Amino acid sequence: MPIPPFTLSESRFRDDDGLFHGLLHNGMVGVYVIQHGKFRYVNPRLAELFGYTQQEISGHFSPLDLVVPFDRERVAQAMEQRLQHRAECAHYSFRGQTRQGQSVDVEVFGIRTTLDGAPAIVGMLVDVTGRCASERAVTEQLNFTAQVIEAIPSPLFFKDEAGRYVGCNKAFEQFIGRQRNELLGRSVFDISPPDLAERYHAADQALFDNPGIQTYEASVQSTDGLRRDVIFNKATYSRADGTLAGLVGIITDITDRKQSEALIWMQANYDALTGLPNRRLLNERLRESMRRSQRREDCVAVMFIDLDRFKEVNDTLGHEAGDKLLMEAARRIVACVRETDTVARQGGDEFMVLLPGLADRSAIERIASEIIQTLAQPFSLDADAAYVSASIGITLFPQDGDNPVTILKNADQAMYHAKEEGRNRYSYFSPAMQAQAQERLRLGKELRRALRNQELRLYYQPILQLASGQVTKAEALLRWAHPERGLIQPGDFIPIAEELGLIDSIGSWVFEEATAAALRWYQQDLPPIQLTINTSPRQFAKGQSLEFLLERLQHLPLDGARIGLEITENTLLDEHPAITAQLARLCAAGVQVSLDDFGTGYSAMAYLKRLDIDYLKIDRSFVRDLATDPSDLAITEAIIAMGHKLGLQVVAEGIETVEQRQLLLAAGCDLGQGYLFATPMPEAEFIAYLQAGG
Ligand code: C2E
Ligand code: MG
Ligand code: MG
Repeated sequence: MPIPPFTLSESRFRDDDGLFHGLLHNGMVGVYVIQHGKFRYVNPRLAELFGYTQQEISGHFSPLDLVVPFDRERVAQAMEQRLQHRAECAHYSFRGQTRQGQSVDVEVFGIRTTLDGAPAIVGMLVDVTGRCASERAVTEQLNFTAQVIEAIPSPLFFKDEAGRYVGCNKAFEQFIGRQRNELLGRSVFDISPPDLAERYHAADQALFDNPGIQTYEASVQSTDGLRRDVIFNKATYSRADGTLAGLVGIITDITDRKQSEALIWMQANYDALTGLPNRRLLNERLRESMRRSQRREDCVAVMFIDLDRFKEVNDTLGHEAGDKLLMEAARRIVACVRETDTVARQGGDEFMVLLPGLADRSAIERIASEIIQTLAQPFSLDADAAYVSASIGITLFPQDGDNPVTILKNADQAMYHAKEEGRNRYSYFSPAMQAQAQERLRLGKELRRALRNQELRLYYQPILQLASGQVTKAEALLRWAHPERGLIQPGDFIPIAEELGLIDSIGSWVFEEATAAALRWYQQDLPPIQLTINTSPRQFAKGQSLEFLLERLQHLPLDGARIGLEITENTLLDEHPAITAQLARLCAAGVQVSLDDFGTGYSAMAYLKRLDIDYLKIDRSFVRDLATDPSDLAITEAIIAMGHKLGLQVVAEGIETVEQRQLLLAAGCDLGQGYLFATPMPEAEFIAYLQAGG
């Protein structure tokens, strides 16, 4: 509705009118009258606001003189509009300029009128500089906040209390692959896959029910379908009156960390070669199975599987072939068990099988037999076929132990028992085995003492020319004269000495004692014989006792030919340049080498040609059944023929009967050793034996 024009008479501006006086002299509002493009009147407040006197402005200044240049056009237009009757009144603001050049924000309310018959504008002007400044500060603050939020590299979003998106930053748009305007006003159900939307919604509700902060892990799916693992950090925010307004959330992408955590977990729990669980994970699962079995009152079976002769495959065909065999063995074992069972690689050629909830012994045995059978099948490794077998030890929880350590240790012992029994078989753990293991432990402790207390002895067993019966060699055999247990045979303590690392010092003692005996016999003018000394593969690995022997031979007035060494095929299997070098040095010192227990090892034939060996000793196991087992006779004949072809002499061990001696002689065997001729004996007895003419 147009405001009715009113006319102002000049006299009204005079200060004598009470009403106007009050109005015009107020300290708050500036009052002005504009006519013919100039101020016709300004009140004291307006003049003072701009730093002038009333007289200076009235009748002289154009309104635009009080406006900053930037706003002048706008103000001019507003006045023009009113004067041209296009608008009765106007309410607008602009920035004014004081005498001192400072700017003031003003708001004006002007009305068109007629003064003295000519159009004029009468208006009021209020200084709003303070309000504008605070508005500007708020705007700036808002701008700043918006920019900061935009610049945050982590995805960030806001939702209202109904869970609708009300804002986000650039990083959020990029993270989920959507533009902001697709989000605003929508809920998680509109933009996220249902499973995630449910999760987010539930979390939002929980936060709204319990305002404050909230942190949780979840995943986020972007529009390309890719899911990333994230941490949500959310916090509620409220209105000025304290009511809940919504939430702000920030997302931290932890996909990389999760991936490396997963990788580390894999490495810590799985075997890299076979992909099977490793010892650590097996232990964990065993513990878990034991707990469960206690609740259900059933049984857990653990199998310790060791591949027989794996080391030989590794040594002869190479590590790559060995690795392939292990991978294939793992596959075969896995195929024998249920999906709920665990097959783990314990390390090297050892595997473990964990069979929870198996009470039935026949089921356990069926699985063990199956594993043995499947592992006995040939392994084709590129061009070669390799054969291994498996020895399995079985323990049962709770019968054989109440904790994982004991269960595993006992399975290991049962496995050793299976090996001792001839490999390629399984064996249950038994208390007798445990007693045996404890006995071994005790013996080991006492063995350390035996060396210091001079409890070790050497016995001597003659070796004869089979054709003439002449004694040309003797073998030094170790005994342990235990103060309480009596004479202990080497088979009962040498493996322990090897395990405990005592074999080198025991070996040195044997060398010292044997060379001293050989020297005595030489000095006593006994018939010249060569004394052979047994060695363990470990002595070659460390080489200390061999050094000791060579040194001793150099310092004794003893011909190297008076001493011989017996090595086993296992020594040769670790064909190491150091071993070859040691054999060469022994050979240079005149020491002859016999290959002991020949025929029981694995394909050592290849080494025979390359290494400097003088004698083959056919193992006692072939000699024992010579008369009754035609295949043993055939093998023995073949070994003798082969030995001769390679220029070696052949010794038969363990001859107990005349018949055996006859068969060996007929097969062309050179030398013999056995109870038929003499048992091992102490030195005094042996000297008497020699003096009596053998
Ligand atoms: P070996 O070197 O094969 O020694 C031959 C074994 O056969 C000896 O057993 C000997 O007593 C036994 N023997 C000899 N003739 C007969 C026979 O007619 N019938 C039967 N049934 N047995 C016979 P021993 O003395 O018990 O030694 C066992 C093994 O211990 C040796 O086998 C050797 O490998 C090892 N050994 C013995 N002394 C030492 C040593 O000083 N150092 C090392 N490293 N090993 C040793
Ligand atoms: Mg021997
Ligand atoms: Mg032997």
